[in-house]
Amino acid sequence: MIEKRQLYINGTWVDPKISNDFNVINPANEEPCAVISLGAQADTDAAVAAARGAFDSFAHTDKAERLALIEKILEVYNRRADEMAEAISLEMGAPIDLARNSQVGAGSWHIQNFITALKGFEFERPLGDHAPNDRIIHEPVGVVGMITPWNWPMNQVTLKVIPALAVGCTMVLKPSEIAPLSSLLFAEILDEAGVPAGVFNLVNGDGAGVGSQLTGHPDVDMISFTGSTRAGIAISKNAADTLKPVHLELGGKGANIIFADADEKAVKRGALHCFQNSGQSCNAPTRMLVQRAIYADAVEIARATAEAQAVGLPSEPGRHIGPVVSEMQFEKIQGLIQKGIDEGARLVAGGPGRPEGFNRGYFVRPTVFADVSNDMTIAREEIFGPVLSIIPFEDEADALRIANDTDYGLTNYVQSQDGARCNRLARRLRSGMVEMNGKSRSAGSPFGGMKKSGNGREGGVWGLEDFCEVKAVSGWTAE
Ligand code: NAD
Repeated sequence: MIEKRQLYINGTWVDPKISNDFNVINPANEEPCAVISLGAQADTDAAVAAARGAFDSFAHTDKAERLALIEKILEVYNRRADEMAEAISLEMGAPIDLARNSQVGAGSWHIQNFITALKGFEFERPLGDHAPNDRIIHEPVGVVGMITPWNWPMNQVTLKVIPALAVGCTMVLKPSEIAPLSSLLFAEILDEAGVPAGVFNLVNGDGAGVGSQLTGHPDVDMISFTGSTRAGIAISKNAADTLKPVHLELGGKGANIIFADADEKAVKRGALHCFQNSGQSCNAPTRMLVQRAIYADAVEIARATAEAQAVGLPSEPGRHIGPVVSEMQFEKIQGLIQKGIDEGARLVAGGPGRPEGFNRGYFVRPTVFADVSNDMTIAREEIFGPVLSIIPFEDEADALRIANDTDYGLTNYVQSQDGARCNRLARRLRSGMVEMNGKSRSAGSPFGGMKKSGNGREGGVWGLEDFCEVKAVSGWTAE
């Protein structure tokens, strides 16, 4: 059993003030695999005080110094990539190849992209040619409280910690208590890379404890949160008394609109994307909208894709999917699959229970429902499991109406060989991102949502700006 009870505060590993053991469960066998300690108010206060103490000097370091620090972090992160993949695979069940290539790889990619963005970022800019004595200064927002989920742990941690370091913020990270091992290793990486004491602090804890302590803390200047819409609302309310800005990256219920003229791989690609990471991605294309002319064929392709989707142990190499993260998620998904059946959707693949060959572990059968209507629970709620809902549509207007008829607005997808139609839809879909014909977003592109999917934009220049205050100065003397 791995024992990782210490917290990282002010540049050292310290024992929690009050011992409060919490088991990390291996989702593949339902057994504890590690023990951490959940922090208490005194630990949160110590971490916030360390971040506050480090802020003045770190905020005024040179950009070149912070750039060199982030380059060093990338070097250490890449050197320890195998360890990181093992931690992620163990704590949240991603198969080891997915963990190594996609989960750890997403972290390297973000760090590299922030290096590029920081190189080109002007912290002090003229207002414009009309105002030679005005300057706009971007300065770090201060002490940031960061709260992250378990589904893409390093993706989310690097999207917060690296831009905050890049602009000169100091911070306290509270990773998901369900998947804390990767963040504990990340703290070791930052320590090894030479991040100055107090700049980065990590306190383990749950939402009700350390999470709420951070969001309501008078000495925390901003909250950056990724997780469920439910928690995002609770955090916004708790932060309101201190009027701190709260940047939210929340859930999704993406539509994947497949027109009759879509390329022949569109349905299979969409189904596999939905099942990736066992369906535990906020931007998963979980509502597949299919034009009536190809509807029957699409259902058949999705069924075959689900039945061919292997499910296996996280420790085994290969392109299978692993378990979902926890008993709570497993039970929630089972309940929603049953709800789909009860509300009259047509089950064409998968269904309730574990896949054949598994009698323990939180393994879910890749599941496809057809004839789903957009008002059914499985079309409205984020399932966060490998469950695809197929909804027929008649024409472009119908597809747009169904796609936008959701509380969420994170990523929508369009598949058609008619470029003008794709562009029209890209303009009218109410979501922070639109991905078309299998083309994923490029380096430096901002990630974030509208409506109940949140309000922040992470990645690239927008990701740096998220951690900055904007100061307007007049009467500036040219230097
Ligand atoms: P969650 O909201 O239960 O937990 C996320 C984090 O918030 C954890 O660290 C948890 O301890 C903490 N937390 C929970 N309640 C809190 C509270 N009241 N105050 C402070 N902190 C609190 O979500 P989860 O189950 O860990 O993650 C899955 C969710 O995350 C899904 O809804 C998914 O869509 C979303 N997500 C969104 C994005 C995005 O960028 N939009 C990315 C990944 C995941």
